[in-house]
Amino acid sequence: MHRFFISPELISGDQVFFPTDLAHQIVRVLRLRLGDRVLVLDNSGLAREVELHTFGQREAQGTIRGVYPAAGEPRTQVDLYLALMKGKKVELVLQKGTELGVARFVPMVTRRSVVSSLRDLNDVRLDRWEAIIREAAEQSGRGILPAVSEPVMLESALGDARDGDHEIILAWEEADDLTLKEALAGRPEKVALFVGPEGGFDETEARLAAAYGASIVTLGPRILRAETAAVAVVVATLYELGEWE
Ligand code: SAM
Repeated sequence: MHRFFISPELISGDQVFFPTDLAHQIVRVLRLRLGDRVLVLDNSGLAREVELHTFGQREAQGTIRGVYPAAGEPRTQVDLYLALMKGKKVELVLQKGTELGVARFVPMVTRRSVVSSLRDLNDVRLDRWEAIIREAAEQSGRGILPAVSEPVMLESALGDARDGDHEIILAWEEADDLTLKEALAGRPEKVALFVGPEGGFDETEARLAAAYGASIVTLGPRILRAETAAVAVVVATLYELGEWE
């Protein structure tokens, strides 16, 4: 069943109103018919099964036939703090991270990231990022739409993770002993994963993260590209915490 994330104000009583863009997708692209059912999610953690009954010029409408908890969410909240990378790598990580179950993305400016200060940030592509996340969440069957924030400096990202009571884990290619498995041994319910840019984290950044309580882990002897490391550390964390059973 096709699923769509919509804003809660489009749900009134047992009626759901699909705005123009969604109506176009339903009628013209997916060629659904009156009487067909779709799944509607409003980021509340609930899923609503909706029977389509009206196709207007500019909108579509349906009646809610069932409401149940939205499936598709990991028990563990995994937030991914990723350094800004070149080209479309951030978009790739947003898409794959959404499919995998990331709850929140926090892009970061670090010493060696593609921009080294918030001032250099001209066009934050938040709208585009949100569109990529929405499409990946609908395609993969997520129950909640992951959030993505404006880019922040590493130190405020660490403060944000600490204030949110996360188990903070920073992947550092120069770490030599602590493994991801060991860092997850406490079976945390909330995990903040930090991954650096193409140029990596420098030693002062790793030390700063440790001062914020982060576990500095190795991802093994091979040096992964930044976008590979971001996806791989999400996969390994969810697998280790039993989210693939
Ligand atoms: N300094 C690295 C080098 O020598 O090529 C470049 C950094 S790597 C391309 C990008 C990011 O991926 C790193 O900042 C780190 O967060 C993560 N990463 C990649 N391989 C890793 C490894 N073996 N252990 C821990 N982190 C790794």
